[in-house]
Amino acid sequence: MMISYEEALARILRHARPLSSVRVRLEDALGCYLAESIRAREPVPLFDQSAMDGFGVRASDVAEARADSPARLRVAGMVRAGDDARGMLRRGTAVRIFTGAKIPPGVQAVVVQEYCEETGGEVLVRESVPDGKNIRRKGEEIRRGARVLSAGARITPPVIGLLATLGFSTFLVHRKPRVTLLVTGNELVALGKPLRPGRIRDSNSHALAAALKDTGIQEVSVRRVKDDEALLRQALMAALQDSDFVITSGGVSVGEYDLVKDAAVSAGVRTVFWKVAVKPGMPNYFGVWKRGRGRGKGVGKAAGKSAALGRTLLFGLPGNPVSALVSYHQFVRLALLKMSGQRAPGRFVFPAALEKDVSKKAGRAEFVRGVVRVNNGALCVVPTDQQGSHMLSGLASANCLIHLASDATFVEHGRQVPVELLSWEMHGE
Ligand code: AMP
Ligand code: MG
Repeated sequence: MMISYEEALARILRHARPLSSVRVRLEDALGCYLAESIRAREPVPLFDQSAMDGFGVRASDVAEARADSPARLRVAGMVRAGDDARGMLRRGTAVRIFTGAKIPPGVQAVVVQEYCEETGGEVLVRESVPDGKNIRRKGEEIRRGARVLSAGARITPPVIGLLATLGFSTFLVHRKPRVTLLVTGNELVALGKPLRPGRIRDSNSHALAAALKDTGIQEVSVRRVKDDEALLRQALMAALQDSDFVITSGGVSVGEYDLVKDAAVSAGVRTVFWKVAVKPGMPNYFGVWKRGRGRGKGVGKAAGKSAALGRTLLFGLPGNPVSALVSYHQFVRLALLKMSGQRAPGRFVFPAALEKDVSKKAGRAEFVRGVVRVNNGALCVVPTDQQGSHMLSGLASANCLIHLASDATFVEHGRQVPVELLSWEMHGE
């Protein structure tokens, strides 16, 4: 029995668990997920500071100030950003002050410089200001001790800025999964090697390695294996030993040379599912390997080398290049994000108006490659021309996947359909 996309994804995410935590330096943390919550050890702002360039005053000194009857105050000094400000502001005086400068004792408000005119040691103030005007108060954004970030938060550029503001130069994040990519197929020729009749170039190892990089996975080992069950089993066992996640390409269909599933089972992998009611990517295979379980037990020296790894997930992607990348995007990527520490990996799905009629067979959910854009302020989407699961050009020219429900057979143009941006398209246009 084939299971639905939702069921398959739920099972994968149930097995994908956040990996252990490691301490990273701020400069290495972009794209990681926090493994601890962060509390402010200091308030933000650190002290009362001016929000504008202008003059610090006592509110009562300028209470009657108007454009045509300015208050006249003696300029008692100047505070720039970075200066300490100690002296008490006396009645009848003002202090020249700049954005970010510490508010001296006695200053109750800042009048922006557009309302002030400085003349020979004095300033004419043409506006009255309430107490606290143009002052950023100590701790008004973040109280000391407040929880600023929760475990699971993604480290983005503003989060990096926030952590730096709070003085964190290192902190705990989840380790990223170590991935092995096993590419199967006797027909495959490595890039740069001569092609013989009947052979094709291996594109999946490159496309999938790039997709992994896009997901923020740095440790990737790519290995090529022939369609031979013994070799495949050997390669799988080695890969399961020293990875958190093994991805295979090809060999999961029902052909005579589709050996991945059998090889995986004989390597000690427990099958969680094989075949999902989706298009492309129906033959997807997913299993879990646990150390010391089944026939994979204690194989060779590698067993000790990665003793920290208790379990390895295995996902078998179909060999067709579009199926492989779309299944990577819809299944594997989300599992890797969860292992990287993301609490609830989600997809970026939103409605758009379909610009063309689309027909399909009932029984499988379809991820149609499309281009979504804004037209007259509204989102619309059109399928790309080349929809074959072997046609990489149709995926290369797409920026989204159009989700068509399993039971749908015909979707008329003009209808709103759920559309999902491809993760690698989110980085730019
Ligand atoms: P398979 O899933 O192994 O039955 O392969 C399905 C189709 O994808 C076949 O046409 C294969 O030649 C092709 N294919 C498999 N692996 C790759 C690869 N790494 N690069 C490009 N095409 C592939
Ligand atoms: Mg094959």
